[in-house]
Amino acid sequence: MSPSKNPRPEPSSSAPKQGSARRAAGQPPAAGGGSKAPAGGSNADASRPQIRPKAEGWQQPMDAEGRPKLQFAQPKVKQPPKHLADMTLDERIDKAKELGISGFRAKQLSVHYFRHYTADPEQMTDLPAETREQLVEEFLPPLLTEVRRLKTDDGATIKFLWRLFDGALVESVLMRYRSRITLCISSQCGCGMNCPFCATGQNGLTRNMSSAEIVDQIVQANRAIAAGELDAPNAAEIAEEQDHAALGEETEFAESEASAAAGKGASSSGVGPQRVSNIVFMGMGEPLANYKRVMSAVRRMVDPAPEGLGMSARGITISTVGLVPAIRKLADENLPITFALSLHAPDDQLRDELIPVNSRWKADEAIDAAYHYYETTGRRVSIEYALIKDMNDHLWRAELLAEKLNARGRGWVHVNPIPLNPTPGSIWTSSEPEVMRAFVNRLESLGVPTTLRDTRGKEIDGACGQLAAAED
Ligand code: SAH
Repeated sequence: MSPSKNPRPEPSSSAPKQGSARRAAGQPPAAGGGSKAPAGGSNADASRPQIRPKAEGWQQPMDAEGRPKLQFAQPKVKQPPKHLADMTLDERIDKAKELGISGFRAKQLSVHYFRHYTADPEQMTDLPAETREQLVEEFLPPLLTEVRRLKTDDGATIKFLWRLFDGALVESVLMRYRSRITLCISSQCGCGMNCPFCATGQNGLTRNMSSAEIVDQIVQANRAIAAGELDAPNAAEIAEEQDHAALGEETEFAESEASAAAGKGASSSGVGPQRVSNIVFMGMGEPLANYKRVMSAVRRMVDPAPEGLGMSARGITISTVGLVPAIRKLADENLPITFALSLHAPDDQLRDELIPVNSRWKADEAIDAAYHYYETTGRRVSIEYALIKDMNDHLWRAELLAEKLNARGRGWVHVNPIPLNPTPGSIWTSSEPEVMRAFVNRLESLGVPTTLRDTRGKEIDGACGQLAAAED
């Protein structure tokens, strides 16, 4: 449900109590106390309104037990056909043998799919003509049908709209940068997490995507890249390479592909990787609510061909609203992927409304789980923070966030604030640029590495939180 009216600011707290005890309880310090004015500014921060979603016009959807509505389990619906990318190489070989075909054929078929991005029997000339059709039918059922694609950033960003076997619609966004190509992928049809500022959450969860449906987004994107359909970023975009697509590490793969392309005299789209090098699970859905299929998709991404795509795990980022037990499980997977927590507020009072799953696991528990991820994997984690005007952008929140992160240690976390992207019918807007700068500066001055990012694809509703997969 989208809020439809402008919220009336709640009266800002004028309670006499101040200090960290009060702040830890999620209350702003009284005006003039605790929080300093933005550098070079007036006392604007302290006197700004403190808006919460439950202001006039927005009501949190509740379940039968009176708790914030969340859908963890998918409705009982038909599942997509099993595909080669749902299986390990051994499972594919076994299946081929069951069909009375040599196991070697399963390997060849895997090379076609994972290395040449093809599912077209005509192109599989190394396979006997009489078994090609059967093999493709058994192992490569069509999963994603392209409905529409929208380009922006002079062709360096493409948003794909896919129809799945049952008519469900999902989106992925492909972005070329100077030395990486990032694909933002979906993991569920819809989403059950109900965050009021995100377009995807407004229609609930239709179903989980299968591992192969998740992986096929990458294979299809690679096919488009190979066909020269993704253009190079222009100079302005290169100068601004500062968004979520930059999450995860610049992979060795990207570097070697870049130099290979340079050696070949480059391609039509310039020097750079020639296939997707980075993945962010920031499309539709909550990846950790579809844990098993997402993890098997990740395995397929990192398995070397012909088992999988041979991508670097370091270039893969999983982002979550904060499903604490699943975060802890993820830490134990022994995969060096990048982890991102969508925190958006350090205090439970606001986060309870902004991220309904906070009713199950509180901000501190989510931060503890993120810290556990760092401790277990040694990989620095990201905290996502969409800056929403007068809601979560106050300096006292930057201070409370820094306090909570620093209390657990130093050097383990990076904060990524981004301006809120507009979504249809939403009453909220992005923070003012000077407020964002002050927020970032406060975190930095408190020793928390922070990068203000912006997201590509806003013009085509392809940016974070804007994916809603309507056909028109
Ligand atoms: N469910 C996962 C991943 C999908 S959303 C998660 O919540 O992390 C990817 C990121 O976009 C999350 O950090 C999410 O909070 C953020 N996001 C959602 N709506 C947004 C909006 N309108 N503007 C900016 N970021 C948004």
